[in-house]
Amino acid sequence: MKEYCGVVGIFGHKDAARLAYLALYALQHRGEESAGIVSFDRKKVYTHKGMGLVGNVFSEEGLKKLKGPMAIGHVRYSTTGSSTTKNIQPLLINHKKGFIAVAHNGNLTNSVELQNELEDSGSILQTSMDSELIIHLLVRDQKNNYREKMIPILSRLEGAYAFVFMINDTIYAVRDPYGFRPLSIAKAEDAYVVASETCAFDMIRAKYVRDVEPGEVVMINKDGLTSLGHIPGKRHAFCIFEYIYFARPDSNIFTKSVYLTRKNLGRALAREHPVGADIVMPIPDSGTYAALGYAEESKIPLEMAFVRNHYIGRTFIQPSQFIRDFKVRVKLNPVRDALKDKRIVIIEDSIVRGTTSRSRVRALKEAGAREIHMRVSCPPLISPCFYGIDFPTKKELIASSHKIEEIRQFIGLDSLEYLSIEGMLNSMLLPKEEFCTACFSGDYPTRICKPPSKKALEKSRCMGIK
Ligand code: SF4
Repeated sequence: MKEYCGVVGIFGHKDAARLAYLALYALQHRGEESAGIVSFDRKKVYTHKGMGLVGNVFSEEGLKKLKGPMAIGHVRYSTTGSSTTKNIQPLLINHKKGFIAVAHNGNLTNSVELQNELEDSGSILQTSMDSELIIHLLVRDQKNNYREKMIPILSRLEGAYAFVFMINDTIYAVRDPYGFRPLSIAKAEDAYVVASETCAFDMIRAKYVRDVEPGEVVMINKDGLTSLGHIPGKRHAFCIFEYIYFARPDSNIFTKSVYLTRKNLGRALAREHPVGADIVMPIPDSGTYAALGYAEESKIPLEMAFVRNHYIGRTFIQPSQFIRDFKVRVKLNPVRDALKDKRIVIIEDSIVRGTTSRSRVRALKEAGAREIHMRVSCPPLISPCFYGIDFPTKKELIASSHKIEEIRQFIGLDSLEYLSIEGMLNSMLLPKEEFCTACFSGDYPTRICKPPSKKALEKSRCMGIK
């Protein structure tokens, strides 16, 4: 399971690209595959992009070349389109009325239809990303100015999007009407900042102002910040998985604390599924905060009995055959003295295929744990996500085809329990009607276009459905 994307926009700061860089650094967890920044000094557009982590893509020299008081940036893990340099965002195009740069977080669910329509009417698409479609739609409408055409054109998109556009001397920040993906606004002195998560604001000492509302189109230019109105929508569907796994615990998303929500999930889990154990231990990092809540509620001591290696990066050296579970062991190593002869309850944030959990449990047994129980701080994942999270296909999600008892046996646990959908929703700090829970329930809040065949997907440039 991979993260998807993080976006940022800066308006009105002499060092806009540097601020964007630092904000992207804070958003690195949302996409490790590539990073890019586009800046504008009111005369010329500058761009720098590359494959890899933010710290590797940008050098001091590179940042100095990104001039101007406006910048937008993006970190990416590909949710649509292949992993190539031409798909690195922000996407930038020049045309007779100036330029458009766009950074997109999310996944359009009608991109195949839009792509067909655009190609049938003569558009030539340059990338394999659904994000490019919106640029074509905006440029094709020559009659209206951007202020007028934003809402009618964005209304044609279906699915999940948090966009930051830089169009000539204006930045636009937009969320889809369901509000699947987070996007917040802050001020750093006189400059405006928009970013996927508020942890980016802390990095640059920007003060949170408010969220871009679901469906809202916000315009930021020399006259300040103006709300252009809302794209009509039926309901909200904030991605609940942001709270469970993706967002950083030091962020507030959809206006509420990820940290507090994760602790609530752990508390609810302890109430629903108590177990006699000597220690509670998290799978770091994402299970840590739910484990804190579980330990507090159950009064069982918390131990950090898995130690994470923070320096793994990518290894190209194949481990020897006799080192089983290499990928798991290189990342998390159990502490024998904390585990020997103990009854432990592990707190996991989610189980996708079950194979990683199985390797971890094997490592804990080898370290001497007497009993191993697992509690999962969300319900079983049974359906793929069409809104920008790269879940495996339904077939690969172990809970879509196996009962909990079968998963317990596969992983090698003494007991396994998941938090209920009700327990998860009641742990949120917002009303439960506000959330998308489709990957747990199969109940999608939007129309899902018929998925193309595998062959068509391979050929298709715009993989609207994965
Ligand atoms: S399907 Fe799951 S991961 Fe996707 S938007 Fe909905 S809650 Fe989030």
